[in-house]
Amino acid sequence: MKKQEKLYEGKAKILYATDNPDLVVQYFKDDATAFNAQKKGTIVDKGVMNNKLSTTLFEYLAKGGIKTHFVEKLSDREMLCKKVSIVPVEVVVRNVLAGSLAKKLGMEEGVQLKQPVIEFYYKDDALGDPMINADHVLAFGWATKNEIDWISDCALKVDVLLIELFARHGIRLVDFKLEFGKHKGEVILADEISPDTSRLWDMASGEKMDKDRFRRDLGKVEESYAEVVRRICG
Ligand code: UDP
Repeated sequence: MKKQEKLYEGKAKILYATDNPDLVVQYFKDDATAFNAQKKGTIVDKGVMNNKLSTTLFEYLAKGGIKTHFVEKLSDREMLCKKVSIVPVEVVVRNVLAGSLAKKLGMEEGVQLKQPVIEFYYKDDALGDPMINADHVLAFGWATKNEIDWISDCALKVDVLLIELFARHGIRLVDFKLEFGKHKGEVILADEISPDTSRLWDMASGEKMDKDRFRRDLGKVEESYAEVVRRICG
């Protein structure tokens, strides 16, 4: 497999083509952004840590029957993935009230929800990823009924699997964001799963171990990402 031209550069990752048209290389950067890229910074070695953690999580989910774009880890910052066309919908799963939902409802973070909540956001940076519902997805043709049902079902299965894994390592899975893509007509889990895209709280202390440490200037950002990697990847 030979890495070729840059296909796309995002806020946290770069995608490269390969000599195989079905495969791409996902390169993880240290750049961190928050609040729709109004806040910018660097989290030292974040790319290495997120690549390592995403690899472990994708391998774990695959064993649990989840189809993902992950093929293999190539290097510290690179992962070989199936090439997908991304469904332009961010899928958020919440187990505990936090972040934008806590703000919207004017409630304190930390309330355990009686059941998981799935939310959809339209992927559009210029619009700040507006919240949408399943009808919008169908009405605008971003996915079919079968696809969005499958995506919702998959997101809930991922939730069950990840809650269990993180809990075993003393971490409470508060919420997370998934992205899905189509590869040869089939919808699969794509993107990454990391402290950039999830909220992870230490079960014993309640300490945040995710990107909120960067968003809210809580300090110990690198240390917290490293601790998640240490616990989950060993
Ligand atoms: N999230 C993400 N990318 C986004 C928006 C949210 O990865 O563009 C993740 C975020 O890290 C959190 C979950 O999705 O784990 C729910 O985020 P929320 O809606 O509370 O928004 P935020 O507080 O990030 O603005």
